[in-house]
Amino acid sequence: MDYSSKLNPVARDMKPSGIRKFFEIAATRKDCISLGVGEPDFVTPEKFSRAGINSILEGKTQYTANAGLIQLRRAISEYLDGFIGVHYDPASEIIVTVGASEGLDAAFRAICAPGDEILVPEPCFVCYAPLVSLTGATPVPVRCTIENEFKLDAAALEAAITPRTKAVVVAFPNNPTGGIMEKSDLEKIAPVILKHDLMVFSDEIYGELVYGGAKFTSIASLEGMRERTIVLSGFSKAFAMTGWRLGYICAPRPIMDVVYKIHQYAIMCAPTAAQYAALAALEVSMGDGFLEVSEMRAKYDERRRYLVDRLNALGLTCFEPRGAFYAFPCVASTGMDGEQFALALLDAKNVAVVPGSAFGDSGKDFVRISYAYSVDAIKTALDKIEEFLAELKK
Ligand code: PLP
Repeated sequence: MDYSSKLNPVARDMKPSGIRKFFEIAATRKDCISLGVGEPDFVTPEKFSRAGINSILEGKTQYTANAGLIQLRRAISEYLDGFIGVHYDPASEIIVTVGASEGLDAAFRAICAPGDEILVPEPCFVCYAPLVSLTGATPVPVRCTIENEFKLDAAALEAAITPRTKAVVVAFPNNPTGGIMEKSDLEKIAPVILKHDLMVFSDEIYGELVYGGAKFTSIASLEGMRERTIVLSGFSKAFAMTGWRLGYICAPRPIMDVVYKIHQYAIMCAPTAAQYAALAALEVSMGDGFLEVSEMRAKYDERRRYLVDRLNALGLTCFEPRGAFYAFPCVASTGMDGEQFALALLDAKNVAVVPGSAFGDSGKDFVRISYAYSVDAIKTALDKIEEFLAELKK
């Protein structure tokens, strides 16, 4: 059968994720040391897991409300009141999703339509452009540069806007660069967004993971922005719950009414046990001053400082990433681009990092190194990178 003619051309022609592509190569190699994966090395704190396990044992194994357990939505609302200072009504402005991933997909499908242009600052997480394309809208990359610490620059944003531009993705702390945009940075792009009446997809999944005295600000908290912003977040990263697949989406009711229909038809509801675990994650954390999250963050911070200092000492220039758990060094000094460097390093030293090109063309000369690994693993990998660089010079 000629499957090619049967498949949706947009889905058929989507590029596979550059991260996955690279890991398929790495997975075939024995004893490979990976600094590639974008998920916490920590196990979900036991108190959170117990609540999920107990919910199953107590027989809470049915669907929940489509939008998620109301007590979880109330907890998310209370949490966001404190964390970002923006209030969302638990009954009508919050939906619990299958990770931030489902939230992103539903948000794009709710807003984007054929003919629309959606601005996607790059380098960025791999899913935005393909998911936008699936809606029939066109993702338009906006280049973020190391000179500007990979922040979204107001002039670059303005220059990318056309009469077709409907929305912009704002994703800080950023995967893959570790760059952040603090309040004063967001205040520079907000007037452009307001002037052109754009919507904002704000991916805040790494919001809790900022370091070095930085403070996370949601763009939704800026004047005039709440009404045009869809906040996407979840429990995967800061709460070390990737496998539970729990996230949430928040926006004004007219948007959520549409997101609700998409979520209801596609998903029904997020997994019930995971919702109970997430509820415990918020209740326990709000009760103990976010002890579990703070402890993990302190460990990431220690690894971050070690990694960045060593990369710079090795001549792999790395600006100071102040969020998420990634460093994004430039490898141009080796005469290779990120893909060549990652392949050669894997070949020579069995160490896996991700080529920056997986996150957009603007990441071409970089590699992403995750520090969601133990200090020992990071040290061993860097010793090998040091040997690799020394051998290159011979
Ligand atoms: N957004 C960003 C920037 C990410 O890096 C990831 C996962 O790596 C996600 C969203 C998806 O997170 P979730 O596990 O909540 O689906």
